[in-house]
Amino acid sequence: MPPEKFQWKHLYEEVVTTGLCTGCAGCVIACPHDVLGYRDDQGVYKPFHLEEGYAPDNCSHGEKSCTSCTRACPRFRTWESEIDEFMFGRAREADEVSGIYKDIVLARAADPVIHEVGQDGGLVSAILLYALEHDIIDAALVSYLEGDGSTWKAVPGVARTREDVIASAGSRYTYSANTLAYNDAIESGAERIALVGMSCQSSVPAVMKQRKAGKVARRLTLNIGLLCSKTFDDAIFEELFEAKYGLKRADIKKMNIKGVFQIWMHNGDYHEVPLKECHAWTREGCNMCPDFAAQHADISTGGIGAFNDWTLTIVRTDVGREIMDGLVASGMIEVRPGDDDPGAIALMHKLAKKSRTRWPEFAVAAPRLVGT
Ligand SMILES: Cc1cc2nc3c(=O)[nH]c(=O)nc-3n(C[C@H](O)[C@H](O)[C@H](O)COP(=O)(O)OP(=O)(O)OC[C@H]3O[C@@H](n4cnc5c(N)ncnc54)[C@H](O)[C@@H]3O)c2cc1C
Ligand code: SF4
Ligand code: SF4
Repeated sequence: MPPEKFQWKHLYEEVVTTGLCTGCAGCVIACPHDVLGYRDDQGVYKPFHLEEGYAPDNCSHGEKSCTSCTRACPRFRTWESEIDEFMFGRAREADEVSGIYKDIVLARAADPVIHEVGQDGGLVSAILLYALEHDIIDAALVSYLEGDGSTWKAVPGVARTREDVIASAGSRYTYSANTLAYNDAIESGAERIALVGMSCQSSVPAVMKQRKAGKVARRLTLNIGLLCSKTFDDAIFEELFEAKYGLKRADIKKMNIKGVFQIWMHNGDYHEVPLKECHAWTREGCNMCPDFAAQHADISTGGIGAFNDWTLTIVRTDVGREIMDGLVASGMIEVRPGDDDPGAIALMHKLAKKSRTRWPEFAVAAPRLVGT
């Protein structure tokens, strides 16, 4: 970061109000003065400043040189190239549209229960179980469904046990800022914390470390990313699924996206909704997001490809490789080469390239130039 003190005012003007803000909540958990709140109602997923007597863009601590929020924001200025250099010791090549990585494999949980509850191969849940059971992490920041699950509202939460990991498995296609569970995790004494999050959230630990945002960064020791091209506004349940297809949210059992929106109902029915009908409910924070491949995670995971019950797994760091080696050695996962499904890898690169075109002209050029 250059010597100028970048504070909330800069973040508000350049990210929060321009459309670049993804709602990842990195700034909220990094704020040492607790003056940033977070809205997650009516389709808005954004931080706001909550000091009484101050304008939305004016932070008293920022005026006194506090820079924590801009240090934690993975959309502020030259975030992407700064993190690439920090994590991988080099700038990425123009063809590295999905980010820099070490290995790509297909993986799935060996434990049938974990495999069954997992969205694809259950790899993410297997990683969390392994890391908890082998004393690598104390807790993980994940997403649950609110209450008994019938509202399909995704909410951030902490996983500390096998039961928690099972309860939080699977994908919800509305937004869940899992970072927000950080305070709950440290209140229960966690010091080594895994973050599971969408691509946008998986750049939070890396940018915090690179810009020295303090002890929050040191505690986020494992970073698992989920490939992502968009999340949907909560209103899609009533305004599309129920209004057009008669599918009530309380009756929905499971959802997945494989070229179409797949919806399984509790009564055994199965429905497909064309994705082009869903686009109108794209969450605002996703419209300018350039990162499909969770490019700054230790391990990025996705469900594209020919094999529905395997997780496409992109291993990016030494930490990620160590975890994968440990999982294999302990028999907790099965792995096969990524080359078994070259179409999945090609599709990932294609979708990553497409997401990059969303990065706007008014922002720094770097994310737009990769892949052109
Ligand atoms: C909104 C969304 C969009 C996605 N889009 C794509 C895509 O376009 N292409 C692709 O290949 N893969 C996509 N994925 C990833 C895919 O759905 C799986 O999460 C991934 O393959 C890992 O599968 P798994 O069986 O290993 O995970 P599991 O073992 O089922 O673990 C999934 C983990 O994700 C967490 N989680 C679930 N929903 C959310 C949420 N909304 N926000 C944050 N965390 C959540 C859970 O708490 C759990 O820890 C998306 C995931 C989500 C949540
Ligand atoms: S992108 Fe994330 S860190 Fe940046 S302003 Fe938005 S919520 Fe805060
Ligand atoms: S597209 Fe996915 S990764 Fe990008 S902002 Fe939306 S939720 Fe985050």
